[in-house]
Amino acid sequence: MQEIGHWINGKMVKGTSGRFADVMNPATGEVQARVALATPAELDHAIEEAAKAQVGWAATNPQSRARVMMAFGALINQNMDKLAEMVAREHGKTIPDAKGDVQRGLEVIEVCMGAPAMLKGEAMDSAGPGIDLYAIRQPLGVVAGITPFNFPAMIPLWKIGPALSSGNAMILKPSERVPSTSLFLAELLQQAGLPDGVLQVVNGDKDVVDGILDHPVIQGVGFVGSTPIAQYIYGRAASNGKRAQCFGGAKNHMIIMPDADLDKAADALVGAGYGAAGERCMAISVAVPVGDKTADALIERLVPRIEKLKVGPYTAGNDIDFGPVITKQSKDRILGLINSGVEQGAKLVVDGRGFKLQGYENGFFVGPSLFDHVTPDMEIYKQEIFGPVLSTVRAGSYDQALKLVMDNEYGNGTAIFTADGDTARDFASRVNVGMVGINFPIPVPLSYFSFGGWKKSAFGDLNQYGPDAFRFYTKTKTVTARWFSGIKEGASLNFKALD
Ligand code: NAD
Repeated sequence: MQEIGHWINGKMVKGTSGRFADVMNPATGEVQARVALATPAELDHAIEEAAKAQVGWAATNPQSRARVMMAFGALINQNMDKLAEMVAREHGKTIPDAKGDVQRGLEVIEVCMGAPAMLKGEAMDSAGPGIDLYAIRQPLGVVAGITPFNFPAMIPLWKIGPALSSGNAMILKPSERVPSTSLFLAELLQQAGLPDGVLQVVNGDKDVVDGILDHPVIQGVGFVGSTPIAQYIYGRAASNGKRAQCFGGAKNHMIIMPDADLDKAADALVGAGYGAAGERCMAISVAVPVGDKTADALIERLVPRIEKLKVGPYTAGNDIDFGPVITKQSKDRILGLINSGVEQGAKLVVDGRGFKLQGYENGFFVGPSLFDHVTPDMEIYKQEIFGPVLSTVRAGSYDQALKLVMDNEYGNGTAIFTADGDTARDFASRVNVGMVGINFPIPVPLSYFSFGGWKKSAFGDLNQYGPDAFRFYTKTKTVTARWFSGIKEGASLNFKALD
């Protein structure tokens, strides 16, 4: 059995705890490897070494750090196939989707190649007689990234790029279900010229996370995962005086107006609802057609598209639309939620519960399911299902549809499909959600903007990647400097204007 350890000081090391988590093959249901869960001593050692390495790394000029990002980006491109296979093997997503996972992470690294421009401070000369002011951005020190299973390449890259190019060292704690990609990315970074110790990958579970949250050397924590854990991590990190940004779960709605192009809307819903088996924080899980006529016409278009979807292992080739979900627990939970939807009176229009694949009977596959006539009191509406299940909530009017989105406790992404500019504009302006799509179902901002939800989808002030990330990973220091040539004034005890 393959044993996966940690990446410490530029080397792969075995774990010493004797505690392991199984890394599953979601397509077969078999254990394919086991990953070591670090001890507190292993974590402490990784942090102490990172703190030493950070001093030299921060003293390296920003352009040199950017060059490491350039070499890293080139290596990611060269290893695209290998990375995609690694992602697919542990996560179960298809190879084209896994390449997208790597690509959207790579785009953040590309922005980090221009990090020096983001790290410039502000200056004002002659703010008073002989007085200049300047504000500089300095790295926080050692920071931590704690990442979820569903984007094994993209989200670690969202953390690594901005943190390291800003001059920090990072302890990366990837999801124990998909540990290999982060370790390989660390190896590539070493090849790209990153000094040893600046990125440490420590595998583990809650014990390691708690160790990170309580460690006095860790200055900032960037978390992505489910909402209860995001809220917990934010609270504990903040009460320990750390900077924290914690991104949580989602329930993303797409409103379909009567004037929308319904074929395009149906295509968008199928891609955004079932891609990656619905295991995306920006998946659309609720369709909100406005008016029964729109709803009937939409369902009529959705059903044949959904019934055509091919579900299977990534190894079956590129015509597979989506793969298994991540674990047996996840599959059982999704099936339980579908059952609850039926019991609570929603209409199950496409039923994915009985899905079976010859040769993969023990895999964690769930067929695509579509519900109509879902109401907000039902469990399938209230919970983030994180599976290939799309719920339709019919709205009587645009205002009702908007209210539904606004009343939902999550606020990660949302979309509207319409041909009317006024409606689209009104929606984008009023909705209380962080990322909005207009005739665009998954509005993940490009890497030179920043990504983040509202309400229970994010805790903390700044978003991930883009300009916000450089603010998050640096502290501002403002210097007031005076040179005495030409100044006659003696001592003053007054607090006063500089002029
Ligand atoms: P998760 O919350 O179970 O795990 C995320 C990380 O937290 C992992 O590294 C895990 O080891 C750690 N963790 C788990 N339980 C913990 C505990 N009790 N104490 C401390 N640490 C703990 O999330 P997941 O199942 O890996 O990922 C899916 C979730 O992530 C979904 O809710 C999805 O919406 C969300 N997500 C959000 C975003 C976003 O940017 N908002 C992006 C991707 C995924």
